[in-house]
Amino acid sequence: MSLPFSQIARIGAYTLKEHIKGGKYPLVLMLEPLFRCNLACPGCGKIDYPDAILNQRMSYEQCMEAIDECGAPAVSIAGGEPLLHKDMARIVKGYIAKKKFVILCTNALLLKKKIDEYEPSPFFTWSIHLDGDKEMHDHAVDQQGTYDIAVEAIRLAKSKGFRVQVNCTVFDGADPARLAAYFDEMEALGVEITISPGYAYERAADQEHFLNRERTKKFFRDVFARGHGGKDWTFTNSPLFLDFLAGNQTYECTPWSMPLRTIFGWQKPCYLLGEGYVATFKELMEGTDWEQYGVGKYEKCSNCMTHCGFEGTAATDAIRHPLKMFGIGRKGVKTEGPMAPDVDLSKARKAEDVYSSHVERELAKIKEADPEGFKRVQKVA
Ligand code: SF4
Ligand code: SF4
Repeated sequence: MSLPFSQIARIGAYTLKEHIKGGKYPLVLMLEPLFRCNLACPGCGKIDYPDAILNQRMSYEQCMEAIDECGAPAVSIAGGEPLLHKDMARIVKGYIAKKKFVILCTNALLLKKKIDEYEPSPFFTWSIHLDGDKEMHDHAVDQQGTYDIAVEAIRLAKSKGFRVQVNCTVFDGADPARLAAYFDEMEALGVEITISPGYAYERAADQEHFLNRERTKKFFRDVFARGHGGKDWTFTNSPLFLDFLAGNQTYECTPWSMPLRTIFGWQKPCYLLGEGYVATFKELMEGTDWEQYGVGKYEKCSNCMTHCGFEGTAATDAIRHPLKMFGIGRKGVKTEGPMAPDVDLSKARKAEDVYSSHVERELAKIKEADPEGFKRVQKVA
């Protein structure tokens, strides 16, 4: 369970400094500079936009502004498929020049073709979307052969000296034994693993939600138990976040720790819940009523145990209780015995049917800027 020392030291120093200052601070900028993708995974919430929006790109300048505005020490670039953005290599270089850690998330279909536009750096990591073994992954993305392409890309990137991790989202119904075997495969390939349960976009907090939460924790205990409390594998996740997944920590989320910037602006309140967009990071931080969100506060949050909501909490806990964190790193995650009490979901405010007008607003902007082009796009769509 380790990250390169340079990352730990730099991000640790930033976190400590911000923690001492008090107040809210971001750890990782989540950037989605385009929604276009070369896959069409069932259930993907990013690609179901009109063509006029799928054709939009955040410019190099907008991408640089986003990191300057929020000041996070790291940026995770996703989409859509970032390698479809013609300025992506320049954007990555721009961030590295600012000494930001860049995690470039890709489905790897274009990686072989594009890899020579990038250079290995301690500040740069390829993050390959790989949701399990060959059968699991090809099924998840609904295209045969994608697992083999991704593994070939991993080998190529490693042979060229790049740091590589896989990004694995776990959904309900996954088999712990198969996932553990997949982690063994990744360890043998020499890649790190970023793991997170998927966010269930459901509205009501009922008994089923509670059971889902319980199932998630039991599932991760079952997986980690097959790898000596997770010690057999190299995760990029923090030990305390893994401990939380296994039901050993009672955490509230830190929704501003991984803020999302897309072509629509900054998403309120977090990476997972889209309840509006604002133009600046300052507006996001100062204009969001954070008390309205979180597990136990809002129905839409009831099932959330994702890394973008809770890694920030784990980081704060690590500052407060470093010995606890080192203990888990050394001994592994506890996979037996009673779990920590969970947050009471019964008083969460009802899910709101938030009418999101951002698509209409964005289409109107495109129409105003280029009426003829807009007509052409509409005809094709
Ligand atoms: S690869 Fe990612 S962005 Fe593309 S369709 Fe699949 S989930 Fe969506
Ligand atoms: S619990 Fe809610 S507010 Fe917090 S990260 Fe999850 S979805 Fe976002």
